[in-house]
Amino acid sequence: MSSDPDNNLDSMLSAELDQLSEASLLRSLRTLESPQGARVQIEGRELINFSSNDYLGLADSAELKGAAIEAIEKYGVGSGASRLICGGMSPHVELEDALADWKGTEAALSFSSGFAAAIGTIPNVVGSGDIVIIDKLLHACLIDAARQSGATLRVFSHNDLNQLESHLQWAEKKRSESSHPIRVLVVIETVYSMDGDLAPLLNLVDLKERYGAWLMVDEAHATGMFGETRSGLVEEFGVRGRVEIQMGTLGKAMGVSGGYICGSRNLIDLLINRARSFVFSTAPLPSTAATAVESVRLVRGKLGGERRSKLWAMVDEIKNVLIRVEQSVGTVRSPIIPLMIGDEQAAMDRAVELLEKGLLIPAIRYPTVARGKARLRLSVSAAHGFEESQALEAALTREPEEID
Ligand SMILES: *Cc1c(COP(=O)(O)O)cnc(C)c1O
Repeated sequence: MSSDPDNNLDSMLSAELDQLSEASLLRSLRTLESPQGARVQIEGRELINFSSNDYLGLADSAELKGAAIEAIEKYGVGSGASRLICGGMSPHVELEDALADWKGTEAALSFSSGFAAAIGTIPNVVGSGDIVIIDKLLHACLIDAARQSGATLRVFSHNDLNQLESHLQWAEKKRSESSHPIRVLVVIETVYSMDGDLAPLLNLVDLKERYGAWLMVDEAHATGMFGETRSGLVEEFGVRGRVEIQMGTLGKAMGVSGGYICGSRNLIDLLINRARSFVFSTAPLPSTAATAVESVRLVRGKLGGERRSKLWAMVDEIKNVLIRVEQSVGTVRSPIIPLMIGDEQAAMDRAVELLEKGLLIPAIRYPTVARGKARLRLSVSAAHGFEESQALEAALTREPEEID
C-alpha cells in the first residue's frame, strides 16, 4: 500500500467533493421513513411532497400493495438468475404481453430499470459508422447509451425541428456518399423530465419518415397520463405503428419499478439475444413484474381515468397558485412544473427555505440540467389535494420583509 498522501484515494475523493461543494453542486441523500405520498416523513418531520414522480398516486395504493403481496405469496421473493438462465417466470411474460397490447406493438421486453432498457437497446440498433440524432435535453441514460453505441452523435436544440432537419440532411448526404448502408436513429423524450414540456411528436414522425430515419421515444413521463387509454403521447398523437422503438419506466406514474422496450418482434428477439443489461442481469423480481401487470390493468381502466382527471385538476390548481404568486408558468398541461431560478446556490437556498416551511421541492442542478439553469422541480400528483396546494401558496408567497 502506498503511503504517499498525494496518491491516497480518500484524499483525492475528498478534494473532488470539496470542488463540488464550492460549485454548489454537492448532493446528499435524504431518507424517507414513510411510503410515497402527498405527505412524507423525513427525520420525524412531516413534509408536503412535491418531489415524487408517482403522478397517479399508485405507489402506496391498496390495489398495488395487494397485488405485490399476493405475488410474493405465489412466486417468492428472488428471481434466481437472468431470464436466459433460469430467471424468467410467468409474471415477466404476462407483463410483456400487457405492455405490448397497451402500447400497440408486436412485442415488449422488460428490464430491471428504464436506465437498463436504454443502455441495452441503442448499442444494438446502431453502431460505429451509424448516426444518432438526439434532443439536447435528453435523459442521461439515453445519452450514455448513444455514446456507448459508437455511432456519430448529433445534438439538436430542444424541440428545434429546423435543426433536426439540417442534421437529417447532413445524414442523408453522408448516406449518399457512403458505399455501405448507414443507419440513422433519432432519439427523443415525449415529455421532458426536467422541463415538463412535450415533444412535437407528429412533426417529428413526419420528418424522420421523410428522411428514412428511425425514431426511438422515451415515454418515461408520459406513460399513465396521455392518450385515450393513457399509454402515452404516441397514443395521444395517433402515431402508433410509425415509431420504431418505444421505451419507458414502470417506476413513475405506474407506481412500481422496472423499464421496458416495446417494438417489433424482431427488435425484441434481437434484444433478448444481445442487450447486455438484459442478458447479464438477474431478472426483475417476479412480484415487481406482477405488480406492474396490475398497474397496467388499473391505469388502462376506470381507476386510471379517475386518477388522471384528478391529476389534471391538481395541475390546473397548482398553476393557478403559481400565477397568483407571480411565477411564470408554461401553458402545457404536464405534471412537471419547473420554477426556473438559474444560479445553483440560489436554487439550493430556495429549496432549503421551502423545506423549513414544510415543503419538499427538489433543487435540480447540473449535471441534471445545464449549468446556470438550476430550478426547483415541482411534480404534481393525483394524491395531492386542496390542502397541499394551499400550503404551497402560503410557502411561496413571500412576506414583504423577505423580498429583497
Ligand atoms: C427516470 C427516467 C429514466 C430511467 O428510468 P428508471 O426506471 O428510473 O431507470 C429514463 N428516462 C427518463 C426520461 C426518465 O425520467
